[in-house]
Amino acid sequence: MIKAEPVLLVGSIALDTIETPSDSRNDILGGSSTYALLAAASGSPVHVVGVVGRDFPEDALQLYRNSSADLTDLRIEDGETFRWGGRYHKNMEDRDTLFTELGVFEHFTPNLSSHNRNCRFLFLANIHPDLQMNVVSQMDRDPLVVIDTMNLWIDIARPALDRVLSHTHILLINESEANLYSGCAGLDDAAGFLRDRGPQTVIIKRGSKGAVIYSGGNPVQVGVYPVPAMVDPTGAGDAFGGGFISGLANGDSMIEAACRGTAFASVCIEGFGPERLIGIGTGEISRRVNIIRNTVNP
Ligand code: AMP
Repeated sequence: MIKAEPVLLVGSIALDTIETPSDSRNDILGGSSTYALLAAASGSPVHVVGVVGRDFPEDALQLYRNSSADLTDLRIEDGETFRWGGRYHKNMEDRDTLFTELGVFEHFTPNLSSHNRNCRFLFLANIHPDLQMNVVSQMDRDPLVVIDTMNLWIDIARPALDRVLSHTHILLINESEANLYSGCAGLDDAAGFLRDRGPQTVIIKRGSKGAVIYSGGNPVQVGVYPVPAMVDPTGAGDAFGGGFISGLANGDSMIEAACRGTAFASVCIEGFGPERLIGIGTGEISRRVNIIRNTVNP
């Protein structure tokens, strides 16, 4: 069995307020980094780069300590932790952002420790593209760079996002964001536009319709694990990314890694926030991956 390489992870570490049509939570642990960490940790050692404020709850910090392999570059600074609020529509796919308060992330400039500069796998989970670029530019070896982003940065920081994309190998992006970024309505055209900006591979995530991998040949479709009742879709994309990169760090093929990402996304949406991801067993993930593998086409 291959020993997994460490994954360096940067993304938001947040306290989220989430409203679905039937329930809500205030100030629960969230952030792109949290979901990605919980999905990646059982497959590979994860080294976290990020910042929280002094208000970050002790139990959340303890979860980070238990789940990650290295917290040297996690800072605790004076000020407030990043906060995000979102409200889902009846269809549970569309959502409105109620607020985004960057808090300590506003002025966060990491100075990576030397062992982290040497990681071979880098996951730039969703956060301001200037911060993503800052981390990329500190890497000593050329790591495999996987990036996720969101509509906010496409709208307000496109030149910065273009810069990071030119250093990226694999882009993970939602269908609506791919359309927004490219100005193209069709998936194939959007993926072509995005691949022209740097990444050899673009994976377009389509929620309940699965994901499509564009790597140059024919696109490959990966279906979903059927979840009977979605509780909260928050973080599904980040959980996909965490499962995906830890698969690659284990030597999995791109398709196998996408099946692993899909399995973690399916677990994520079964609970509020990251609650279902905490302590999910490897047996359950393998069981779901086996089912998802049968949906791969061609
Ligand atoms: P997702 O549902 O995959 O889009 O991820 C939701 C997570 O992203 C939440 O836990 C938020 O805290 C986090 N998030 C929301 N907006 C931002 C943003 N502008 N930058 C970084 N993270 C964000």
